[in-house]
This record gives sequence, C-alpha cells and structure tokens, in this order.
Amino acid sequence: MITLEQCQQWDAADILAPLKNQFELPQGVIYLDGNSLGAKPRKAAENAQAVINQQWGTDLINSWNKAGWWDLPVRLGNKVGQLIGAQENETVVTDTTSLNLFKILATAIHIQQNNDNNRKIIIAERDSFPTDIYMIEGFMALINQGYQLHLIDTPADLPARINENTTVVVLSHVNYRTGYLHDMEEINALVHSHGALLIWDLCHSIGAVPIDLNASNSDFAIGCTYKYLNGGPGAPAMLWVNERYQTAFSQPLSGWWGHARPFDMAESYTPADNIRRYLCGTQPIVSMSLIESGVDIFLQTDMQSLRHKSLQLTDLLIALTEQECAGHNLTLITPREYAHRGSHVSLRHPHGYAIVQALIARGVIGDYREPEVIRLGVTPLYLSYTDIWHAVQHLKQVLINEEWAQPQFHTRGQVT
Ligand SMILES: *Cc1c(COP(=O)(O)O)cnc(C)c1O
Repeated sequence: MITLEQCQQWDAADILAPLKNQFELPQGVIYLDGNSLGAKPRKAAENAQAVINQQWGTDLINSWNKAGWWDLPVRLGNKVGQLIGAQENETVVTDTTSLNLFKILATAIHIQQNNDNNRKIIIAERDSFPTDIYMIEGFMALINQGYQLHLIDTPADLPARINENTTVVVLSHVNYRTGYLHDMEEINALVHSHGALLIWDLCHSIGAVPIDLNASNSDFAIGCTYKYLNGGPGAPAMLWVNERYQTAFSQPLSGWWGHARPFDMAESYTPADNIRRYLCGTQPIVSMSLIESGVDIFLQTDMQSLRHKSLQLTDLLIALTEQECAGHNLTLITPREYAHRGSHVSLRHPHGYAIVQALIARGVIGDYREPEVIRLGVTPLYLSYTDIWHAVQHLKQVLINEEWAQPQFHTRGQVT
C-alpha cells in the first residue's frame, strides 16, 4: 500500500527536487503535459527581454555578429548535442521536425541511390506521429521514382519486414501514443545489417531518456525542442547527422543559410562543408533564443539522474492507478519493462476524452490522443512524488463521481 506520507518521504530525499524552482507553473496546477509543451523556465522571460530590448531594440542589425545570431543554430545545436551523445558540430537547431524530416529523408535516399538504386521501400510505423508519414508521402510524390512506404504494425514486425529492398527506415525512438521505447543500438544494427539507413525521430525521447547517438551507431536524428526540452511554443527543432554522412549529399532545401559562403551572394549554390548545409533560410531568432533557457536546466544535472527519477515516477503513477482506480476500466498501454518505457504513461478508457477534460477542470493537465488514450507526461525536472499522488487522487474522484459524464467535458476543442 503506497501512502501520501511515503510520497512525501521520497520527495524529501529527491536530489532533483530543487530544479522545480527554475520553472514557473500556475498555482494549483499539476502539469502532466510536458511531453507536448514543456513548462516555462523562469529564465525564459528574462532572456526574451534581453533579445527583444537589447539585441533587437538597441543593437539592431549589429546583433547578427555581436549577439551571435548567425551562429545560434550551431551553438544551440552543440548544447542540445550534449544530451544525445553528439560530437561537436553534428547537431543544429532549425526549422520544424516535419521540415527536418524532409531534408534528412532526401539526404538518406540520395546516399542510398548512390550505392544501390534498386532499393525502393521506405519503412515506418503505422503508429508514427502522423506528420512523419505525411512528410514521407510528400517526399515520395515529389521525387516520383517508384518509392513505396511500408507501414509496420508493431516494433516486433520490423525484423520480418526489412530486407534488401529497404532503403530507409523512419522510427520514433519513443512512441507518442503508447510511450514504447525502442532499443536504439539493437535496431540500428538490424537496419544496417540489411544495408538500410535509419532516421530516428526523438520528439518524445530527447530530454526524456538517455540517448547516445554515436555510441549506438545511429545515422540521422530529428526532434522537437518544445516538448521535454522546454524550449517554448513552436520553438525550432533539432537535427543531427552522423559525421560520416555530413557532406555525402546536400539537402534539397538549398537556401542561402546553408551556402558555403552566404555573403558572397554567388549566383549558384555551393553547400557548406559542415552541418550548416542543413539550414535553409533566416531563422526565428527570438523563439530560438528561448530554447537555451530550457536546455541550460538539463545541463545542471544529467540524463541518468533524470531517467532514474522518471522511472520511479512512472512506476508510482502506474502503481497508484492500480491501487486507487481499480475496477474503473482503465487499461495501461505503456510497456512496464524499463527497457521499453519512455517518460509518459498512457491509459485507455472508453471515455478517455471526457476524463481528460474533467481532470483539466481540476487542475491536472494531461492530454488525449485517439483512440481513447489518456496520456500523462512525466517530467522529472518539475514533478514531485506528491504531485503524482494528488494527480491520481483527482483521477479517482473523476471516476468515482463520474464527473466525466458532465456535458461540458464532451465538446472538443481544436487541440486535444
Ligand atoms: C510532436 C511531434 C512532431 C511534431 O512535428 P512539428 O513539425 O514540430 O509539428 C513530430 N514527430 C513526433 C514523433 C512528435 O511527437
């Protein structure tokens, strides 16, 4: 039997607990949606003020040099890179995850075409975050060279479906719906043994689980900064390319920011001979500057400590829902094995949508994903053991009192 007192003792012993003070969350809110939009670091407003008032307002165009705006995508990329086992200058922050997938896919396909132009199958998961599938479809339609997308239903299907016709595999390191975590090293080895290349989507794993892209022999990775990294709404995404592929091919969105000598204003494109070739046009500097406020908090600790607390909190959330909410038709769809568990817990319930709305009305913010999935994000930087206790008590009340049955919890907003 787990008690509130027990949770309070775990909090008292938690060495990461002080980091919560670096975030500003509204009173009375338990925020279980940091896997969709990370919380606001206290420093973010101060940093935004400096960018807007000093760098933009006072220094004006000098800031491209003086404030390092021009180098910001690579400087930030190197900071983010420390969380994912990147070498210097393998990572940039730029554009969106969707756009970065397009650029990386084009690179991977061209590298493969140079080796063996008969490989025409791209593999992804049916349960991918939809933008990944949509972008692959758009890319295939654009190049119009007979490529086909094969969707696998579960990770276990990959060994049987991959073969010598496979060119590129696109996988989410952590599944956005179930929280399933792939073994990066094992899957890289499998994909490479068939001569294919792999693109990892890190949106739900960067800042959530330890990642070592080089040690696991990865090829390419893309991912969000506005989820676990707390970079702010719509903050630009990251993109990582293993050094061995960096100059193998220049991606097709060949804008001037990726040029070798942009200020030559040359009449034709020559790609930079480094990761900058993955940039396209002028970057959203204000939004990009805010990412640093979130990433700097990670650099005060390490991903192993965060992973330890994340697993303890997801264990607690699972155990408490079983202890407190048994008999209410909740089904855990997140893997229990640590080796395959990310940092959120998903529970299915036929009234999942209305339950999430009733929880939000009580100040417990999670989100809903089709079909029937209550998704509860666990962010060890700013959640405590007692937060999890109270969140489950609220869930219990919503279920016992059938609060979800109230009509106001059944109307759908644009964003669920
Ligand atoms: C959130 C998410 C995205 C979002 O892509 P954007 O281009 O930032 O909208 C992509 N892939 C996965 C797996 C995600 O979870």
